[in-house]
Amino acid sequence: MNTQASRPRVWVSRPLFDDILDRLREYFDIEVEERDRDWTREQMAQKLRDKTGAILGVADPVDAGVIAQTPLLRAIANRGVGYNNLDIAALKKAGIVATNTPGVLDETTADFAWTLLMATARRVTEAERWLRAGNWKGMSFHIMLGGDVYGKTLGIFGMGRIGQAIARRAAGFRMPVIYHNRSRVAPEIEADCKARYVDRDALLREADFVVLTVPLSAETRHMIGAAELAAMKRDAYLVNIARGGVVDDAALVAALRDKRIAGAGLDVFEHEPEVPAEMLALDNVVLTPHIGSASLATRRAMASLAVDNLIAALGCGPNAGRPPNAI
Ligand code: NAP
Repeated sequence: MNTQASRPRVWVSRPLFDDILDRLREYFDIEVEERDRDWTREQMAQKLRDKTGAILGVADPVDAGVIAQTPLLRAIANRGVGYNNLDIAALKKAGIVATNTPGVLDETTADFAWTLLMATARRVTEAERWLRAGNWKGMSFHIMLGGDVYGKTLGIFGMGRIGQAIARRAAGFRMPVIYHNRSRVAPEIEADCKARYVDRDALLREADFVVLTVPLSAETRHMIGAAELAAMKRDAYLVNIARGGVVDDAALVAALRDKRIAGAGLDVFEHEPEVPAEMLALDNVVLTPHIGSASLATRRAMASLAVDNLIAALGCGPNAGRPPNAI
C-alpha cells in the first residue's frame, strides 16, 4: 500500500463522474478540473509537470514539446476512442503508455450517426427552428420536403467498429451498404453487415449517404474536399461523426451553399468549438456539438474504462502493468 507521501499524482483534465473517480483516489492523489476548458500546449505542460498520470479529453494536446517538460509522466488515458490529440510516436519514445476507450461507445455512436443522417435528410432541425419562430400557420403539402432514407445506398468510409455498427442498422431501411477502408474487412463481417467493398471513387459516386467514421490522421486529413464533394451525387448527403479535419470545412460550406450536395449532418468540425459563421447561416446542414457518444450510460462506461486503463498502466489494481487498451 502506498503511503500518502509516495502516492503518484494524477491530473484529470476535465470534470468526470465523481463516483468513478473514487476508484482513482484509492491509488493516487488526484487533481480534477471542475469545469470544461480547452488547454493550450503550454498549459498542458504546466499541469502535467509534476504528474505521473493523466486522464485527458480528446481535444487535450500532448506532443513532443509537452513531453519534454513532463519528466514524471508515465501514462495517459484518453477518455475517448480517437487519439489524434496525442503524438503517439513521441509518447512511445519517452516510454509513456497511452490508452483509449474502444468498443464501449460503438453502438451509441452508431445510433447517433443515424440520428444525424435522418435529421439531415428529413430537415428536422430546420423544421423545428421554423416552427419555433411561429411560421406554422396551417397545414401545407409543400413544406420541408426532404430526401428519402429507405432504400437509398449507404456509403461508409471507415468500416471499423463504429462503421460496422452503422452498417448493421441499414437492413431495417432496406439500404444497400457499400464501404471503403484501406483494407477489406473479413468476409464474415461483410456478410454480417451486408456490405460490399468498393474503391473510394465508387463510394463517392454511388452513395446517397456518405458517412465518415475514419480516425483523423495525416492520411485522412481533408480526405473530403472540393473534388470529393463534386464527385458526390447532387442529391446525396454527407454525415461526419468522425473528426473535424477529415472534411475541409471551407470546401463543404461552398458545396452546401451552391447546392452541389443536398445537405450535411456534422457532429465534428475542423476548429472546434468554433463553427464557421457561413455554415451557421445555412439551412441544409444539421450541426451538433461533438456528442456522438453522449448517452449517459456510454459516457460512464468510457470514464470507467479510462480509469481502469490508467490504474493498470501505472502498475496498480488487478491488471497492474496490463492496461486493457494500450495504443
Ligand atoms: P476503428 O475501429 O479503428 O475504425 C476505423 C476504420 O477506418 C478502420 O476500418 C480503418 O480501416 C479505416 N481507415 C483508417 N484510415 C483510413 C484511410 N486512410 N482511408 C480509409 N479508411 C481508413 O475506429 P472506431 O472505433 O470505429 O472509431 C473511428 C473514429 O470515430 C475514431 O477514431 C474517432 O475519431 C471517431 N469517433 C467520433 C465520435 C464522436 O463523438 N463524434 C465518437 C466515437 C468515435 P483500414 O485500417 O483498413 O483503413
